[in-house]
Amino acid sequence: MATATQAFEPSVRVSATQLLINGKWVNSASGKTFPTLNPATGEVITQVSEADAVDVDRAVIAARAAFETGAWRRKMTASQRGAMLNRLADLIEKNADELAQLESLDNGKPYHVARAADLPLTIACYRYYAGWADKIQGKTIPVNGNYFCYTKHEPVGVVGQIIPWNFPLLMQAWKLGPALATGCTVVMKPAEQTPLTALRVGELIMEAGFPDGVVNILPGYGPTAGASIARHMDVDKVAFTGSTEVGHLIMRAAADTNLKRVTLELGGKSPNIVFADADMDAAIEGAHFALFFNQGQCCCAGSRLFVEEKCYDEFVERSAARAKKRTVGNPFDKNTEQGPQVDQDQFDKVMGYIEKGKSENAKLMAGGGRVGDKGYFIEPTVFADVTDNMTIAQEEIFGPVMSILKFKSVDEVAARANKSAYGLAAAVWTKDISKAHAIADSVRAGTVWVNCYDVFDAGAPFGGFKQSGIGRELGEYGLANYTEIKTVTVKL
Ligand code: NAP
Ligand code: MG
Repeated sequence: MATATQAFEPSVRVSATQLLINGKWVNSASGKTFPTLNPATGEVITQVSEADAVDVDRAVIAARAAFETGAWRRKMTASQRGAMLNRLADLIEKNADELAQLESLDNGKPYHVARAADLPLTIACYRYYAGWADKIQGKTIPVNGNYFCYTKHEPVGVVGQIIPWNFPLLMQAWKLGPALATGCTVVMKPAEQTPLTALRVGELIMEAGFPDGVVNILPGYGPTAGASIARHMDVDKVAFTGSTEVGHLIMRAAADTNLKRVTLELGGKSPNIVFADADMDAAIEGAHFALFFNQGQCCCAGSRLFVEEKCYDEFVERSAARAKKRTVGNPFDKNTEQGPQVDQDQFDKVMGYIEKGKSENAKLMAGGGRVGDKGYFIEPTVFADVTDNMTIAQEEIFGPVMSILKFKSVDEVAARANKSAYGLAAAVWTKDISKAHAIADSVRAGTVWVNCYDVFDAGAPFGGFKQSGIGRELGEYGLANYTEIKTVTVKL
């Protein structure tokens, strides 16, 4: 638990709380608002306008107009679009302290973590895609006959983007970067728990000089605003990050309406595999980080921790000791490693899984309870002797709960690692390159980390096999989802 305090009072002021539609800040048509809370206290930070179907419709009309009239895609050159994205990155960098504070206040993640990780990754993502804006090019194809044939990569059109609450600024950047670089226009719904930084970035988007209607931001609830985006007949593509359950709904909505393109970045139950020949200090700290980072609220959390029998007891003991030392508390204290869960629902869900782990006879080695009596803080929790069929080994917990399983051989662990509906990420810790490559080769997951975890870069694609998603974000691959290929054939 935290010792000497190095806390400070956030000095951030909340400015944008309305909807951003067609370059204007407006109330929702219904006039309704909803509260956003500070998860460290459970208190209301402010009221935010609540978008619904009517507002989504207005935003789609604005985005369509910005797309068709060509204010964005034709009147501006590709390099001017890149420059605009760079200007946005510069403004985010200039306001990074304030944005990190706002992110911490609204989400609960420690301020110093947001400032050191979320902000630099966000800025880098916009700059990375700014660089792509004037490098999106087709091919010339040697077809039979006397023809000149070439392809163009055209923007897919009006894009609906629905993002989660665990990395609000970063998920906004992952979505806006490729959409804007390719010349699409956007209607975005941030998560109801964390609308504030998305709206502040909306102000910076206007300050950077983006034409009206290119980016519209609509805070609101999933089943209303989110579903309206997914069902809208004039949205050409929907990009969603969140739960697998809602991923199914998004895909069904697209199928039932206009067959809009769908990309999904969903949940995971990622295997993190530790061999006895690994650098034990690095593996223990790496596995701790892989699970507990961001209060355990990571889609790619290393939540099935497989440890080789030969080092199992030592590993469990040292991992439990590390978890007990993890500092939980005030997100504005520099000593804090872990803040609160994002809201009461997530708190209850995670506590439910802890109870489930106990009742299914996993061995509780650390934590298991609540911290304090206000806010949504949970003790870093470690279960040992977890077996494949236990609920905590199968379902995504999305909280600070580590499950440690035992294995004996490479083939056995590879097979068990793949016994999951998910396939988002995996990691392996070993000094033996053959073992490392055997795992990297056999695990069905979109990302494999070797002797590291959660290493992200705007250039490295990320996404899921199986029910962890469809499509990839980041990197050059991430652009493909935002373009249509047009083949032009000219008689010579
Ligand atoms: P969620 O419901 O999937 O929320 C993600 C986003 O989708 C939010 O913006 C949400 O709006 C919206 N949404 C919800 N229902 C919708 C619908 N019917 N149509 C269109 N959009 C909809 O996730 P959650 O309830 O916040 O968290 C539940 C679980 O999802 C977590 O415990 C975790 O397992 C998983 N999760 C995964 C990720 C990830 O990064 N892959 C991120 C967050 C959560 P609201 O703001 O109204 O919910
Ligand atoms: Mg909040």
